Amino acid sequence: MKDTELSRRDLLNAARVGALGAATIGSLGAQVAAAATGPQPHGAGLFGIEALPDPLARRVRWAVVGLGNFAVGQMIPAFLQAQHARITAFVSGNPGKAADLAARYGVTRLYSYDTFDQIAHDPEVDCVYIALPVGLHAEFTIRALKAGKHVLCEKPMASTSAECRAMIAAAQSAGRQLGVAYRVHFDPFNIAAADMIKAGDFGTVRHLIAENCLEIDPAYPPHVWRLTRALGGGGSMFDYGIYGLNGCLMMAPDTTPIDVSAIYTTPRGDTRFAQVEGGVQWRMRFAGGMTAQGTSSYAGAHVNRLLVAGTGGSLAMDPANVYDRNRALRRRPKEPDLVIDTVASQPQFAGQIDGFSLAARDNVPHRTPGEMGLRDITLIEAIYRSADAGGAPVKV
Ligand code: NDP
Repeated sequence: MKDTELSRRDLLNAARVGALGAATIGSLGAQVAAAATGPQPHGAGLFGIEALPDPLARRVRWAVVGLGNFAVGQMIPAFLQAQHARITAFVSGNPGKAADLAARYGVTRLYSYDTFDQIAHDPEVDCVYIALPVGLHAEFTIRALKAGKHVLCEKPMASTSAECRAMIAAAQSAGRQLGVAYRVHFDPFNIAAADMIKAGDFGTVRHLIAENCLEIDPAYPPHVWRLTRALGGGGSMFDYGIYGLNGCLMMAPDTTPIDVSAIYTTPRGDTRFAQVEGGVQWRMRFAGGMTAQGTSSYAGAHVNRLLVAGTGGSLAMDPANVYDRNRALRRRPKEPDLVIDTVASQPQFAGQIDGFSLAARDNVPHRTPGEMGLRDITLIEAIYRSADAGGAPVKV
Protein backbone atom coordinates (compact mmCIF):
# COMPACT_ATOMS: atom_id res chain seq x y z
CA MET A 1 0.00 0.00 0.00
CA LYS A 2 1.35 3.43 -0.87
CA ASP A 3 1.94 5.96 1.88
CA THR A 4 -0.66 8.25 0.41
CA GLU A 5 -3.38 5.57 0.52
CA LEU A 6 -2.55 4.64 4.08
CA SER A 7 -2.47 8.22 5.20
CA ARG A 8 -5.76 9.02 3.56
CA ARG A 9 -7.47 6.17 5.39
CA ASP A 10 -5.88 7.26 8.66
CA LEU A 11 -6.88 10.82 7.97
CA LEU A 12 -10.50 9.95 7.37
CA ASN A 13 -10.60 7.68 10.40
CA ALA A 14 -9.23 10.51 12.47
CA ALA A 15 -11.83 12.85 11.03
CA ARG A 16 -14.66 10.50 11.95
CA VAL A 17 -13.92 10.55 15.65
CA GLY A 18 -12.70 14.10 15.82
CA ALA A 19 -13.84 16.76 18.21
CA LEU A 20 -12.96 20.37 17.65
CA GLY A 21 -10.91 22.40 20.10
CA ALA A 22 -12.61 25.69 20.83
CA ALA A 23 -10.64 28.90 20.46
CA THR A 24 -10.64 31.72 22.96
CA ILE A 25 -9.85 35.40 23.13
CA GLY A 26 -10.66 36.70 26.57
CA SER A 27 -14.39 36.83 27.23
CA LEU A 28 -15.09 36.42 23.53
CA GLY A 29 -13.24 33.15 23.70
CA ALA A 30 -15.50 31.93 26.46
CA GLN A 31 -18.51 32.72 24.29
CA VAL A 32 -17.04 30.85 21.32
CA ALA A 33 -16.20 27.93 23.56
CA ALA A 34 -19.69 27.86 25.05
CA ALA A 35 -21.27 28.02 21.64
CA ALA A 36 -18.95 25.54 19.95
CA THR A 37 -18.38 22.74 22.42
CA GLY A 38 -21.88 21.27 22.54
CA PRO A 39 -22.93 18.35 20.33
CA GLN A 40 -21.27 18.86 16.96
CA PRO A 41 -23.57 17.79 14.17
CA HIS A 42 -21.55 16.72 11.19
CA GLY A 43 -23.46 16.31 7.99
CA ALA A 44 -24.62 12.79 8.74
CA GLY A 45 -23.72 11.76 5.24
CA LEU A 46 -20.27 13.29 5.35
CA PHE A 47 -18.62 9.98 4.54
CA GLY A 48 -21.57 8.50 2.69
CA ILE A 49 -22.28 5.56 4.94
CA GLU A 50 -23.59 6.82 8.27
CA ALA A 51 -27.15 7.57 7.30
CA LEU A 52 -29.59 7.66 4.47
CA PRO A 53 -30.56 11.11 3.25
CA ASP A 54 -33.66 12.69 4.74
CA PRO A 55 -36.78 12.50 2.59
CA LEU A 56 -37.39 15.82 0.84
CA ALA A 57 -40.34 16.69 3.07
CA ARG A 58 -38.18 16.48 6.19
CA ARG A 59 -35.27 18.49 4.85
CA VAL A 60 -34.42 21.93 6.18
CA ARG A 61 -35.43 24.52 3.59
CA TRP A 62 -33.00 27.23 2.52
CA ALA A 63 -33.07 30.58 0.77
CA VAL A 64 -29.80 31.58 -0.94
CA VAL A 65 -29.19 35.34 -0.96
CA GLY A 66 -26.84 36.61 -3.69
CA LEU A 67 -26.25 34.43 -6.73
CA GLY A 68 -22.59 35.22 -7.31
CA ASN A 69 -19.47 33.33 -8.18
CA PHE A 70 -19.10 31.35 -4.95
CA ALA A 71 -22.78 30.61 -4.38
CA VAL A 72 -23.39 29.47 -7.96
CA GLY A 73 -20.07 27.67 -8.41
CA GLN A 74 -19.74 25.90 -5.05
CA MET A 75 -22.54 26.18 -2.53
CA ILE A 76 -25.67 25.75 -4.64
CA PRO A 77 -24.37 22.56 -6.32
CA ALA A 78 -23.41 21.24 -2.87
CA PHE A 79 -27.07 21.26 -1.83
CA LEU A 80 -27.50 18.37 -4.25
CA GLN A 81 -25.05 16.36 -2.11
CA ALA A 82 -26.51 17.47 1.22
CA GLN A 83 -28.56 14.92 3.18
CA HIS A 84 -30.68 17.21 5.33
CA ALA A 85 -31.20 20.34 3.25
CA ARG A 86 -32.74 21.63 0.08
CA ILE A 87 -33.05 25.04 -1.57
CA THR A 88 -36.53 26.46 -1.82
CA ALA A 89 -35.84 30.15 -2.59
CA PHE A 90 -33.38 32.44 -4.35
CA VAL A 91 -32.87 36.11 -3.52
CA SER A 92 -31.18 38.16 -6.21
CA GLY A 93 -30.97 41.56 -7.85
CA ASN A 94 -30.81 39.86 -11.22
CA PRO A 95 -34.21 38.32 -12.14
CA GLY A 96 -32.98 36.65 -15.35
CA LYS A 97 -30.14 34.83 -13.62
CA ALA A 98 -32.41 33.87 -10.72
CA ALA A 99 -35.05 32.46 -13.08
CA ASP A 100 -32.46 30.46 -14.98
CA LEU A 101 -30.99 28.96 -11.81
CA ALA A 102 -34.47 28.35 -10.41
CA ALA A 103 -35.32 26.28 -13.48
CA ARG A 104 -32.10 24.29 -13.17
CA TYR A 105 -32.52 23.53 -9.48
CA GLY A 106 -36.31 23.25 -9.25
CA VAL A 107 -36.61 26.34 -7.04
CA THR A 108 -40.03 28.00 -7.09
CA ARG A 109 -39.70 31.04 -4.82
CA LEU A 110 -37.87 34.10 -6.05
CA TYR A 111 -37.27 37.32 -4.12
CA SER A 112 -35.45 40.55 -4.86
CA TYR A 113 -33.52 42.55 -2.26
CA ASP A 114 -36.57 44.83 -2.02
CA THR A 115 -39.07 42.02 -1.45
CA PHE A 116 -36.69 40.03 0.77
CA ASP A 117 -38.51 40.84 4.04
CA GLN A 118 -41.56 38.95 2.75
CA ILE A 119 -39.79 35.69 3.58
CA ALA A 120 -41.13 36.33 7.10
CA HIS A 121 -44.42 35.01 5.74
CA ASP A 122 -42.90 32.16 3.75
CA PRO A 123 -43.28 28.85 5.58
CA GLU A 124 -41.09 27.16 2.96
CA VAL A 125 -37.95 28.90 4.21
CA ASP A 126 -36.23 27.84 7.48
CA CYS A 127 -32.65 29.01 6.91
CA VAL A 128 -31.04 31.80 4.93
CA TYR A 129 -27.54 31.61 3.44
CA ILE A 130 -25.99 35.05 2.89
CA ALA A 131 -23.49 35.11 -0.01
CA LEU A 132 -23.39 38.86 -0.59
CA PRO A 133 -20.43 41.26 -0.51
CA VAL A 134 -19.19 41.71 3.06
CA GLY A 135 -20.58 45.24 3.41
CA LEU A 136 -24.11 43.82 3.05
CA HIS A 137 -23.74 40.87 5.46
CA ALA A 138 -24.96 42.65 8.60
CA GLU A 139 -28.00 44.25 6.97
CA PHE A 140 -29.29 41.09 5.31
CA THR A 141 -28.44 38.84 8.25
CA ILE A 142 -30.39 41.06 10.62
CA ARG A 143 -33.33 41.32 8.19
CA ALA A 144 -33.42 37.52 7.88
CA LEU A 145 -33.26 37.03 11.65
CA LYS A 146 -36.05 39.56 12.13
CA ALA A 147 -38.05 37.53 9.61
CA GLY A 148 -37.65 34.59 12.01
CA LYS A 149 -35.14 32.60 9.94
CA HIS A 150 -31.84 30.97 10.96
CA VAL A 151 -28.84 32.48 9.18
CA LEU A 152 -25.58 31.09 7.88
CA CYS A 153 -23.54 34.11 6.80
CA GLU A 154 -20.45 33.95 4.61
CA LYS A 155 -17.04 34.89 5.96
CA PRO A 156 -15.85 37.43 6.96
CA MET A 157 -18.86 37.90 9.21
CA ALA A 158 -19.20 41.69 8.70
CA SER A 159 -17.31 44.94 8.17
CA THR A 160 -16.82 45.73 11.86
CA SER A 161 -17.00 44.04 15.26
CA ALA A 162 -19.88 46.41 16.09
CA GLU A 163 -21.85 44.94 13.19
CA CYS A 164 -20.99 41.42 14.36
CA ARG A 165 -22.31 42.21 17.82
CA ALA A 166 -25.54 43.60 16.35
CA MET A 167 -25.96 40.39 14.33
CA ILE A 168 -25.46 38.23 17.42
CA ALA A 169 -27.91 40.36 19.38
CA ALA A 170 -30.47 40.02 16.58
CA ALA A 171 -30.08 36.22 16.65
CA GLN A 172 -30.53 36.18 20.40
CA SER A 173 -33.65 38.29 20.36
CA ALA A 174 -35.12 36.26 17.49
CA GLY A 175 -34.20 32.97 19.18
CA ARG A 176 -32.59 31.78 15.95
CA GLN A 177 -29.19 30.28 15.06
CA LEU A 178 -26.46 32.41 13.53
CA GLY A 179 -23.45 30.73 11.96
CA VAL A 180 -20.46 31.97 9.95
CA ALA A 181 -19.60 29.89 6.90
CA TYR A 182 -16.10 28.74 7.86
CA ARG A 183 -16.27 25.69 5.60
CA VAL A 184 -12.82 24.46 6.71
CA HIS A 185 -14.34 23.33 10.03
CA PHE A 186 -16.31 20.76 7.99
CA ASP A 187 -13.34 19.63 5.89
CA PRO A 188 -12.24 16.12 6.96
CA PHE A 189 -8.61 16.98 6.18
CA ASN A 190 -8.56 20.00 8.47
CA ILE A 191 -10.57 18.25 11.17
CA ALA A 192 -8.09 15.37 11.11
CA ALA A 193 -5.14 17.78 11.28
CA ALA A 194 -6.66 19.48 14.34
CA ASP A 195 -7.21 16.08 15.93
CA MET A 196 -3.61 14.98 15.29
CA ILE A 197 -2.35 18.15 16.95
CA LYS A 198 -4.72 17.72 19.86
CA ALA A 199 -3.62 14.09 20.26
CA GLY A 200 -0.01 15.28 20.65
CA ASP A 201 1.32 13.89 17.35
CA PHE A 202 3.67 16.89 17.10
CA GLY A 203 4.48 17.30 20.78
CA THR A 204 3.87 20.73 22.22
CA VAL A 205 2.93 23.18 19.48
CA ARG A 206 5.27 26.19 19.52
CA HIS A 207 4.64 28.02 16.27
CA LEU A 208 1.92 28.35 13.64
CA ILE A 209 2.67 30.06 10.33
CA ALA A 210 -0.12 30.86 7.88
CA GLU A 211 0.34 32.29 4.39
CA ASN A 212 -2.54 33.30 2.15
CA CYS A 213 -1.85 35.21 -1.04
CA LEU A 214 -3.90 35.75 -4.17
CA GLU A 215 -3.40 38.18 -7.04
CA ILE A 216 -6.49 40.33 -7.13
CA ASP A 217 -7.80 41.39 -10.53
CA PRO A 218 -9.69 44.69 -10.62
CA ALA A 219 -11.26 43.70 -13.95
CA TYR A 220 -12.82 40.49 -12.55
CA PRO A 221 -16.34 41.29 -11.27
CA PRO A 222 -16.16 39.33 -7.98
CA HIS A 223 -12.93 41.19 -7.17
CA VAL A 224 -14.29 44.66 -7.90
CA TRP A 225 -16.24 45.06 -4.64
CA ARG A 226 -13.39 43.49 -2.66
CA LEU A 227 -11.26 46.54 -3.47
CA THR A 228 -13.81 48.98 -1.99
CA ARG A 229 -14.01 49.81 1.70
CA ALA A 230 -17.82 50.00 1.67
CA LEU A 231 -18.42 46.50 0.26
CA GLY A 232 -15.16 44.74 1.14
CA GLY A 233 -15.02 45.88 4.76
CA GLY A 234 -11.22 45.58 4.66
CA GLY A 235 -8.63 44.28 2.24
CA SER A 236 -6.65 41.06 1.84
CA MET A 237 -6.80 40.25 5.55
CA PHE A 238 -10.60 40.43 5.59
CA ASP A 239 -11.09 38.37 2.49
CA TYR A 240 -8.20 35.89 2.35
CA GLY A 241 -5.92 36.25 5.34
CA ILE A 242 -8.90 35.37 7.52
CA TYR A 243 -8.52 31.73 6.41
CA GLY A 244 -5.02 31.69 7.91
CA LEU A 245 -6.08 33.43 11.10
CA ASN A 246 -9.11 31.19 11.61
CA GLY A 247 -7.02 28.16 10.60
CA CYS A 248 -4.36 28.94 13.22
CA LEU A 249 -7.03 29.23 15.90
CA MET A 250 -8.65 25.99 14.72
CA MET A 251 -5.29 24.21 15.08
CA ALA A 252 -4.13 26.04 18.21
CA PRO A 253 -4.00 24.04 21.41
CA ASP A 254 -3.11 27.28 23.28
CA THR A 255 -6.23 29.24 22.61
CA THR A 256 -5.66 32.49 24.47
CA PRO A 257 -4.03 35.18 22.33
CA ILE A 258 -2.63 38.02 24.40
CA ASP A 259 -1.41 40.50 21.82
CA VAL A 260 -0.91 41.06 18.10
CA SER A 261 1.44 43.20 16.06
CA ALA A 262 1.36 43.82 12.33
CA ILE A 263 2.77 45.78 9.41
CA TYR A 264 1.19 46.57 6.07
CA THR A 265 2.89 45.10 3.00
CA THR A 266 0.79 46.81 0.33
CA PRO A 267 2.96 47.29 -2.78
CA ARG A 268 3.96 50.94 -3.09
CA GLY A 269 2.12 52.89 -5.78
CA ASP A 270 -0.22 50.05 -6.66
CA THR A 271 -3.41 51.83 -7.65
CA ARG A 272 -5.58 48.79 -6.86
CA PHE A 273 -5.21 49.53 -3.18
CA ALA A 274 -6.59 53.04 -2.84
CA GLN A 275 -9.26 51.98 -0.35
CA VAL A 276 -8.17 48.71 1.27
CA GLU A 277 -4.83 47.18 2.24
CA GLY A 278 -3.10 45.02 -0.34
CA GLY A 279 -1.22 43.02 2.25
CA VAL A 280 -0.47 42.65 5.94
CA GLN A 281 1.88 40.55 8.03
CA TRP A 282 0.85 39.83 11.60
CA ARG A 283 2.20 38.10 14.70
CA MET A 284 0.23 36.88 17.66
CA ARG A 285 1.45 35.75 21.06
CA PHE A 286 -0.51 33.35 23.24
CA ALA A 287 -0.72 33.06 27.00
CA GLY A 288 1.01 29.67 27.01
CA GLY A 289 3.99 30.89 24.96
CA MET A 290 2.89 29.69 21.53
CA THR A 291 3.17 32.13 18.62
CA ALA A 292 1.24 32.45 15.38
CA GLN A 293 2.12 34.58 12.41
CA GLY A 294 0.48 35.21 9.10
CA THR A 295 1.06 36.75 5.71
CA SER A 296 -1.97 37.93 3.83
CA SER A 297 -1.66 39.46 0.39
CA TYR A 298 -3.67 40.50 -2.64
CA ALA A 299 -0.38 40.80 -4.56
CA GLY A 300 1.08 37.33 -4.85
CA ALA A 301 -0.55 34.41 -6.56
CA HIS A 302 -1.58 31.02 -5.35
CA VAL A 303 -0.29 30.69 -1.78
CA ASN A 304 -2.46 28.92 0.75
CA ARG A 305 -0.56 27.12 3.46
CA LEU A 306 -0.31 26.53 7.18
CA LEU A 307 2.72 25.20 9.04
CA VAL A 308 2.40 23.70 12.51
CA ALA A 309 5.74 23.38 14.34
CA GLY A 310 5.87 21.39 17.57
CA THR A 311 8.51 19.93 19.83
CA GLY A 312 7.85 16.50 18.31
CA GLY A 313 7.53 17.29 14.62
CA SER A 314 5.78 19.43 12.06
CA LEU A 315 2.79 19.42 9.77
CA ALA A 316 3.10 21.48 6.59
CA MET A 317 -0.35 21.88 5.08
CA ASP A 318 -0.07 23.06 1.47
CA PRO A 319 -2.62 23.84 0.28
CA ALA A 320 -4.27 24.09 3.68
CA ASN A 321 -7.78 25.28 3.02
CA VAL A 322 -8.73 25.29 -0.64
CA TYR A 323 -11.93 23.79 -2.05
CA ASP A 324 -10.35 20.57 -3.22
CA ARG A 325 -7.35 18.38 -2.57
CA ASN A 326 -5.79 19.83 0.54
CA ARG A 327 -2.45 18.16 1.25
CA ALA A 328 0.17 17.97 3.96
CA LEU A 329 3.63 16.72 4.80
CA ARG A 330 4.10 15.22 8.27
CA ARG A 331 7.68 15.20 9.53
CA ARG A 332 8.74 13.60 12.78
CA PRO A 333 12.22 12.75 14.09
CA LYS A 334 13.41 9.22 13.24
CA GLU A 335 10.39 8.50 11.07
CA PRO A 336 10.03 8.63 7.30
CA ASP A 337 8.22 11.73 6.09
CA LEU A 338 4.57 11.08 5.41
CA VAL A 339 2.68 12.70 2.54
CA ILE A 340 -0.98 13.16 3.35
CA ASP A 341 -2.86 13.60 0.12
CA THR A 342 -6.63 13.64 0.22
CA VAL A 343 -6.89 13.17 -3.56
CA ALA A 344 -10.67 13.19 -3.87
CA SER A 345 -12.75 16.32 -3.67
CA GLN A 346 -13.68 17.36 -0.17
CA PRO A 347 -17.27 17.15 1.04
CA GLN A 348 -16.84 20.30 3.11
CA PHE A 349 -19.59 22.33 1.44
CA ALA A 350 -22.32 19.72 1.87
CA GLY A 351 -21.02 18.99 5.37
CA GLN A 352 -21.32 22.64 6.27
CA ILE A 353 -24.85 22.87 4.89
CA ASP A 354 -25.92 19.72 6.75
CA GLY A 355 -24.16 20.76 9.94
CA PHE A 356 -26.01 24.06 10.08
CA SER A 357 -29.31 22.47 9.00
CA LEU A 358 -29.18 20.01 11.89
CA ALA A 359 -28.16 22.70 14.36
CA ALA A 360 -31.15 24.79 13.29
CA ARG A 361 -33.61 21.91 13.16
CA ASP A 362 -32.57 20.27 16.43
CA ASN A 363 -31.69 23.52 18.23
CA VAL A 364 -28.18 22.41 19.13
CA PRO A 365 -24.98 24.49 19.03
CA HIS A 366 -23.39 25.14 15.66
CA ARG A 367 -19.70 24.44 15.14
CA THR A 368 -18.89 27.89 13.71
CA PRO A 369 -21.17 30.29 15.59
CA GLY A 370 -21.46 34.05 15.22
CA GLU A 371 -19.18 34.42 18.24
CA MET A 372 -16.35 32.85 16.22
CA GLY A 373 -16.92 35.38 13.43
CA LEU A 374 -16.90 38.21 15.98
CA ARG A 375 -13.67 36.87 17.52
CA ASP A 376 -11.93 36.92 14.15
CA ILE A 377 -13.12 40.40 13.16
CA THR A 378 -12.06 41.67 16.60
CA LEU A 379 -8.58 40.22 16.03
CA ILE A 380 -8.37 41.67 12.51
CA GLU A 381 -9.32 45.09 13.89
CA ALA A 382 -6.45 44.71 16.38
CA ILE A 383 -4.13 43.72 13.50
CA TYR A 384 -5.13 46.89 11.62
CA ARG A 385 -4.70 49.01 14.76
CA SER A 386 -1.18 47.72 15.19
CA ALA A 387 -0.32 48.22 11.50
CA ASP A 388 -1.80 51.74 11.61
CA ALA A 389 0.50 52.44 14.57
CA GLY A 390 3.57 51.17 12.72
CA GLY A 391 3.64 47.71 14.29
CA ALA A 392 3.26 48.38 18.01
CA PRO A 393 1.75 45.39 19.86
CA VAL A 394 -1.97 45.65 20.61
CA LYS A 395 -3.43 43.72 23.53
CA VAL A 396 -6.41 41.51 22.68
P1 NDP B 1 -19.61 37.78 -6.21
O1 NDP B 1 -19.37 39.21 -6.52
O2 NDP B 1 -19.37 36.79 -7.28
O3 NDP B 1 -21.11 37.56 -5.69
C1 NDP B 1 -21.77 38.47 -4.86
C2 NDP B 1 -23.23 38.54 -5.29
O4 NDP B 1 -23.90 39.43 -4.40
C3 NDP B 1 -23.46 39.15 -6.68
O5 NDP B 1 -23.38 38.20 -7.70
C4 NDP B 1 -24.86 39.69 -6.55
O6 NDP B 1 -25.79 38.64 -6.73
C5 NDP B 1 -24.95 40.08 -5.08
N1 NDP B 1 -24.84 41.54 -4.86
C6 NDP B 1 -25.80 42.30 -4.28
N2 NDP B 1 -25.41 43.57 -4.22
C7 NDP B 1 -24.20 43.63 -4.79
C8 NDP B 1 -23.30 44.71 -5.03
N3 NDP B 1 -23.57 45.97 -4.66
N4 NDP B 1 -22.14 44.43 -5.64
C9 NDP B 1 -21.82 43.17 -6.00
N5 NDP B 1 -22.65 42.11 -5.79
C10 NDP B 1 -23.83 42.35 -5.19
O7 NDP B 1 -18.72 37.45 -4.92
P2 NDP B 1 -18.31 36.04 -4.32
O8 NDP B 1 -19.29 35.02 -4.72
O9 NDP B 1 -16.90 35.80 -4.59
O10 NDP B 1 -18.43 36.33 -2.74
C11 NDP B 1 -19.69 36.36 -2.09
C12 NDP B 1 -19.49 36.05 -0.62
O11 NDP B 1 -18.95 34.75 -0.48
C13 NDP B 1 -18.52 36.98 0.11
O12 NDP B 1 -18.96 37.19 1.41
C14 NDP B 1 -17.21 36.21 0.12
O13 NDP B 1 -16.36 36.58 1.18
C15 NDP B 1 -17.74 34.80 0.28
N6 NDP B 1 -16.84 33.78 -0.24
C16 NDP B 1 -16.58 32.70 0.55
C17 NDP B 1 -15.73 31.71 0.12
C18 NDP B 1 -15.48 30.53 0.99
O14 NDP B 1 -14.61 29.72 0.66
N7 NDP B 1 -16.21 30.37 2.08
C19 NDP B 1 -15.06 31.80 -1.18
C20 NDP B 1 -15.45 32.95 -1.97
C21 NDP B 1 -16.30 33.90 -1.49
P3 NDP B 1 -27.11 38.82 -7.60
O15 NDP B 1 -26.63 39.14 -8.98
O16 NDP B 1 -27.80 37.53 -7.47
O17 NDP B 1 -27.86 39.97 -6.97
